[in-house]
Amino acid sequence: MKVLVLGSGPTGMLVGAALAERGHDVTSVDRDPGPSADGTWRRRGVMQFEHAHGFRPQVADVLQRRWAAAYDAWTGAGAEPMVVEVPGAGTRTIGNRSRRSVLERALRSTASDTPGLTLRTGHVDGLLADGGRVTGAVVDKVPLTADLVVDASGRSSRIDRTTDPELEGLCGLTYVDRTYQLLPGAEPGPMDNPLGSFNSYDGYQVLVFLHEAGHFSVLFVCPTADDALKPLRLDAVFDQACRAVPALAVWTDPDRARPTSPVMVGGALRNVYRSQRRLAGLVSVGDAVATTTPTRGRGVAMAFSQVDALLELMDDGADPGSLVHPFGAWCDEFVRPWVEDHIAIDTDAVARWQGAALDLTGPLTTERICEAAQADPRINEYAEPYWAMTALPTCLQPAEPLARAVYESGWRPSYAPGPSRDQLVTVIHGAASTADGGA
Ligand SMILES: Cc1cc2nc3c(=O)[nH]c(=O)nc-3n(C[C@H](O)[C@H](O)[C@H](O)COP(=O)(O)OP(=O)(O)OC[C@H]3O[C@@H](n4cnc5c(N)ncnc54)[C@H](O)[C@@H]3O)c2cc1C
Repeated sequence: MKVLVLGSGPTGMLVGAALAERGHDVTSVDRDPGPSADGTWRRRGVMQFEHAHGFRPQVADVLQRRWAAAYDAWTGAGAEPMVVEVPGAGTRTIGNRSRRSVLERALRSTASDTPGLTLRTGHVDGLLADGGRVTGAVVDKVPLTADLVVDASGRSSRIDRTTDPELEGLCGLTYVDRTYQLLPGAEPGPMDNPLGSFNSYDGYQVLVFLHEAGHFSVLFVCPTADDALKPLRLDAVFDQACRAVPALAVWTDPDRARPTSPVMVGGALRNVYRSQRRLAGLVSVGDAVATTTPTRGRGVAMAFSQVDALLELMDDGADPGSLVHPFGAWCDEFVRPWVEDHIAIDTDAVARWQGAALDLTGPLTTERICEAAQADPRINEYAEPYWAMTALPTCLQPAEPLARAVYESGWRPSYAPGPSRDQLVTVIHGAASTADGGA
């Protein structure tokens, strides 16, 4: 079968390579030509390329089963499996430490060596259709025909976007981060989870993602509407803010780590779900189907789980022409609920940061249910599969009455040690005026 994959990001390369390994004749088209001869890779149009990424275990699991050579290339390039001891149950791998660029470079170089997979540089202008069936795509004004077209063109693509998404909302959060590397001999800073650290305050959050080989990312998450926190995007202001937050000060101490990028802002972050267009000969996968707020690091796991489900349907003999129907039903059941979950928790987080009191007259969000486990550890049993994404968000529903009782008793979560949002604003404005004065 002739397959045309639109987009050679992580999703497009995985689906393209896996189909090529099944003997199909696959061409994957991307406007990005890949790394240049000197090794640099601008990755225009994929703004998250250099941003903080954490990789859930689903990513390695799908790669090992569906494209083992790429997994080997990724770990060969330094990706570190995060292995934890589970009391009474041995060890468990809970994800991989790696920069996103390291993952994508490993996939790209493996894809270039995969027989049956052709990587082509070009702009996809639109789809070719005949009598309600998609028969290919127009690339740089040239028609290319195929038996199956896979849209893996990501979150900001304009291919095949003739209908509005079924679910959509700006998450209301802005992601401001910077990358660093530990100096030789320096140990990582304080960690409260194997990936790094996560701390919440009364109007912002800070995260550290430890990557491979001492690389790490430091991240502030703030409400987009909070103009007073906007100067964080200046390097000098970001540095001062890091010094003021105990969880970040040790990590970013110039005697222990050096910045490897300027401060980056994560663009307009949206929670989006697009159901399949139910056109014969076409399926959409990855961010082309769903995007969620990045703070939970779900994107690539969701994308690779979709590819896994698609391949399983094909291996079970589904007709490629009408694959979209069972695959669309799978996405509606297993992908859509995560987008709904993010819309609810982000809306609640932004309201909370703007001072709204917890409303106990409505249902509690999954975030609120999980937080209540600090006061009632029985909730942990329900929260674990939710955090691991081994069950859908509804797995927390039985714990809702437990969490509600916790909040009705008057308990509220405490904030991590560090500046309140107002204190952080004072630090930021002091640093911004010094930076202005020095300019
Ligand atoms: C700030 C940020 C942080 C994130 N952090 C995490 C994280 O910690 N963990 C995690 O798992 N996920 C994270 N994600 C999500 C993750 O990056 C995405 O899920 C992932 O990129 C999806 O891969 P994809 O291949 O589907 O799409 P993309 O990576 O967007 O690739 C799509 C490809 O299609 C190409 N393309 C688009 N249109 C055309 C066209 N017309 N012609 C030719 N080519 C085209 C693009 O050039 C691109 O190469 C984050 C996202 C953001 C924005």
